[in-house]
Amino acid sequence: MALRNIRQLGDDILKKKCREVKEVTPKIKELIEDMFDTMYDGNGVGLAAPQVGVLKRLIVIDIGDGPIVLINPRVIESRGEQTGDEGCLSLPGKAGVVTRPYYVKVEAWNENMERFEMEGEELLARAFCHEIDHLDGHMYVEKIEGPLHDVVYEEEE
Ligand code: ZN
Repeated sequence: MALRNIRQLGDDILKKKCREVKEVTPKIKELIEDMFDTMYDGNGVGLAAPQVGVLKRLIVIDIGDGPIVLINPRVIESRGEQTGDEGCLSLPGKAGVVTRPYYVKVEAWNENMERFEMEGEELLARAFCHEIDHLDGHMYVEKIEGPLHDVVYEEEE
């Protein structure tokens, strides 16, 4: 298990546009593993490569239904609307209200560089949009309605 340093809001690398992944090299496979370790360690549901300082179009997601790797992802369909709290591992302890599509379909490539499509609703749709935004140098704070607020963690019973 290898944790990578998560870049924080204000770091210039988070404003840069990422390059496409052309080939899944051993280095990319290691990056994917490290990104999952880093995301789970931070209790996040998604992480984009630029958040660990790598300007490549690669994201990992796990909203609790298992790990998803998306290489060169792109939104190809979206509909509806949802408004709710969003947070980011690059801005820990904070959240803000963002409106996203309720349904999103993405196309992406897997670790064998095979193209696939995936649909998501609610949290998964939100995660697709949030993480793909990172690949274009955007953070959710640019889209918040109202102020950022502190995240209050509730004790589990
Ligand atoms: Zn984020």
